[in-house]
Amino acid sequence: MQKAWNEMDRNYSVTRFETELSIDELLSKYFDFEKTHKLCSACSGYAQTWACPPFDFEPEDFFRQFSVFRLIVDRIDNAGAADVDEAQQRLFTEKDRYDQEMLDLEKSIPESYGLAAQECVQCKKCARLSGHPCVHPDKMRYSLEAIGCFPVELVHDKFGFDILWSDGESIPEYYLLVAGVLKK
Ligand code: SF4
Repeated sequence: MQKAWNEMDRNYSVTRFETELSIDELLSKYFDFEKTHKLCSACSGYAQTWACPPFDFEPEDFFRQFSVFRLIVDRIDNAGAADVDEAQQRLFTEKDRYDQEMLDLEKSIPESYGLAAQECVQCKKCARLSGHPCVHPDKMRYSLEAIGCFPVELVHDKFGFDILWSDGESIPEYYLLVAGVLKK
């Protein structure tokens, strides 16, 4: 399913792509926590928030609580962005809107879990850094990649396009927000 909108307060477009797959398919084709954990451990954000590994639970067990994954991808068009900063600002603005939408969807679907797109940015400094529990467990949600999935392959297989990144100087054609809702 695909839908596009261009609200009055945006000067760029966002297109949504959605599909569903079973948790069995997600785990068999797009999950390898050992591998993602190794990649995460080399990242500067490793263990910097409670939404990032290492965890005190097994991610596969977490996924096994559910049977269906509704994959929801928003593609943010970077056409007309004056510079790298403006394109990034679009991404940050849309991430806030998207993450809130996943939380709202979670509330509307019994026993579901709304994933976040990328890292947790709820607090300026995560409580984990001072050894305290998460201060917003009602808002903190894991991302697909944090708990062992490979969004690049998933998005390519399901929708036929790729996740693009900036090298810090170039503006990619679009940015993607990739997450969705896990359902019983
Ligand atoms: S909500 Fe705040 S305390 Fe919790 S994981 Fe996110 S940044 Fe850390």
